[in-house]
Amino acid sequence: MLNLEQTKELYDFLRGESEVNIKSNKGVEFEINKSKFYTKKSHLPRMTDEQAFLVIYLLQEAYNFEDFIPDHYEICSQCGELYDSELEGGTTGDEMYCGDCYTEEENED
Ligand SMILES: [Zn+2]
Repeated sequence: MLNLEQTKELYDFLRGESEVNIKSNKGVEFEINKSKFYTKKSHLPRMTDEQAFLVIYLLQEAYNFEDFIPDHYEICSQCGELYDSELEGGTTGDEMYCGDCYTEEENED
């Protein structure tokens, strides 16, 4: 099963936020789950928060990968970061918030 840090690592990779080492004109090396990978720079994804989370959501729901990526890992409506909804955060209407953003909401007034 992926822990939250590993899921965030995948999420960051899909959003083009992984650290990469430039190896040549077009080649880059990056690390996922302590393994190194090499690809062309142009092949790295640059998804929006919503696109990246949609991929993770499909892995969770469409392929019944809940055991692989727990389905309580959610995207925060406010900051766009992943969080574990069993441990932190909360829901307001249709919106889901991580621990940091949910607390801020509550303390607004
Ligand atoms: Zn948040």
